[in-house]
Amino acid sequence: MAESGDARRRAHYLTALGIEAWLPRRAPAPAAADATQAWQQLTDEVARCTRCDLHRTRTRPVLGVGDRQAQWLVVGEAPGAEEDRQGEPFVGRAGQLLDAMLRAIGLVRGRNVYIANILKSRPPGNRDPAPEEVAACLPYLERQVELIRPRLILAVGRIAMQNLLATQGSLAGMRGRVHEFGGLKTPLIVTYHPAYLLRKPEDKRKAWEDLKFARSVFARLA
Ligand code: SF4
Repeated sequence: MAESGDARRRAHYLTALGIEAWLPRRAPAPAAADATQAWQQLTDEVARCTRCDLHRTRTRPVLGVGDRQAQWLVVGEAPGAEEDRQGEPFVGRAGQLLDAMLRAIGLVRGRNVYIANILKSRPPGNRDPAPEEVAACLPYLERQVELIRPRLILAVGRIAMQNLLATQGSLAGMRGRVHEFGGLKTPLIVTYHPAYLLRKPEDKRKAWEDLKFARSVFARLA
């Protein structure tokens, strides 16, 4: 409550100074008991999901991991082979690099960030998600956003960016700007996927620029 009071006061001062205050839409989060029930329902639904053919080949569904009240939400593309085995997103070398990237801006897996993918089941051979698979699965991520109500979404990789923003644009063209996702108009920033950065380490510098940009945008959010 004190936080929203501070936010309102800050917005008032900024308006008085003629500065446009940036207030993302943050409807109240569900009560704790309701949220627990809603998460359980979502977990069960994804575990039983047969909305697309990926349920036939997956080992385990991968809903997400982390703080369900986090202010940051990281969204990637889909589980890979190791994620499919372990049931957790971003494990293995790419996961370690993502953790290091997040640590660089003060975020720790399981503590103050939630990590998820657009698809909850692994596409065979790590192929790109098909449009009908994304259409079938995206409502689960939208539900996660409603429950978590993050202040900022970090979309990692071209596939996540294109599907979250419904664009065919290049990742390079979407970097360095604040986009919006979904009905809550959650601010969204894009950066490179850690698996790409493992293949192209020379772009790590650009990823660091994106993270610093995300951190500065987050600091400006009321
Ligand atoms: S990818 Fe999503 S929609 Fe498809 S089976 Fe898995 S959970 Fe269901």
